[in-house]
Amino acid sequence: DVGRGCLSRQSPLNPPSLTPPPIWIDKIQRMSFFSPPTRIGHGYDLHRLEPIAPKGAGRPFILGGIRFDHDRGPVGHSDGDALLHAITDALLGALGREDIGQLFPDTDPAFDGADSRRFLTRAVEIVREAGYRIGNLDATVILEQPRLGSRKMEIRTHLAEILGVGVDDVNLKGKSHEK
Ligand code: MG
Repeated sequence: DVGRGCLSRQSPLNPPSLTPPPIWIDKIQRMSFFSPPTRIGHGYDLHRLEPIAPKGAGRPFILGGIRFDHDRGPVGHSDGDALLHAITDALLGALGREDIGQLFPDTDPAFDGADSRRFLTRAVEIVREAGYRIGNLDATVILEQPRLGSRKMEIRTHLAEILGVGVDDVNLKGKSHEK
């Protein structure tokens, strides 16, 4: 799956708690001197699905922090949440920082079975510490089974909560590879 994040730097004229009226923002942004630099990041992740333990090496199926009832699950050192891993990498990538594998090595027993929301939450903090805020997220999940279908909104809402943005700022597309 692929996550794309868009960040824009907080202008001192536009702090989060003191937002000027939209017409002001428009005027400020037209003046190149005050234009906040926008950075875009891209993330990708892939996890193999296997029957859930003890039948196989799969962990319970979790995507975007949401648990699905499914007989197969991702193989991974953490909980194997490919969507959260890709978004984490998109945020870190936008800043030009170390990627998820460098920040949270899969050789570290502390991350064995870890809830991946922990990684994403840390990446969101890093974004804020660097003086940026998240603009929007556009993500594509490539998955045969289970289908995202009815749970898309649940995932979007959950992601928006973690990222500190509105649900309308999070987009999620589900694709299956046609065979
Ligand atoms: Mg991963």
